[in-house]
Amino acid sequence: MEQKRTRLKQGQVQVYTGNGKGKTTASFGLALRAAGCNMHVVIIQFMKVSGHYAEDEGIRRLGETVEHYTFGNPGWVKKGQGTEADYAQAKAGMEKAREVLQDPDVDLVILDEINNALWFELVTEEEVLALIKDRLPNIELVLTGRNAPEAIMEAADLVTEMREIKHYYTKGVPVRRGIEF
Ligand code: ATP
Ligand code: MG
Repeated sequence: MEQKRTRLKQGQVQVYTGNGKGKTTASFGLALRAAGCNMHVVIIQFMKVSGHYAEDEGIRRLGETVEHYTFGNPGWVKKGQGTEADYAQAKAGMEKAREVLQDPDVDLVILDEINNALWFELVTEEEVLALIKDRLPNIELVLTGRNAPEAIMEAADLVTEMREIKHYYTKGVPVRRGIEF
């Protein structure tokens, strides 16, 4: 069993976007790998409610080096017309993100669905660009979600587009526990 903790000298900014499946799960795969060398990981999920997704329990099982927070409300958000509660959750998520991106003990930060929060106008591009720019340089930062804006992709060091070539939902396969949520 690995005891030593890996620390990064220089963190990179990664973006997982596109309409194909795999953005959230790819970022969690990275958390799994980082946890394997005792890196301090913080996962912040935007527009998601705790208790619904199986990853809540999965992440908990990775142990204490992985922290996990969700900021969202049940129900759908209308683009540009979030409720007070939607904006409050997004704001709290951004505050948490700012805090952990300044923490010298943190190695990897995942902002899951932040591109979605941008798309639905719950957070602004300026705020997210500031997060990227002002983070401690040793922190690896991953931003996920469809429709990543051009400016965010430009600010990133790595951009991967999950492109849907085929998806079983077109055959009527419903979302499945443990696979989609
Ligand atoms: P995953 O969480 O599986 O890695 P993702 O983060 O890439 O997926 P999201 O855009 O966050 O994808 O979508 C959440 C889930 O909804 C995905 O598992 C995806 O396969 C599923 N999904 C996407 N489009 C549809 C659709 N039209 N009908 C049913 N399920 C869909
Ligand atoms: Mg996702």
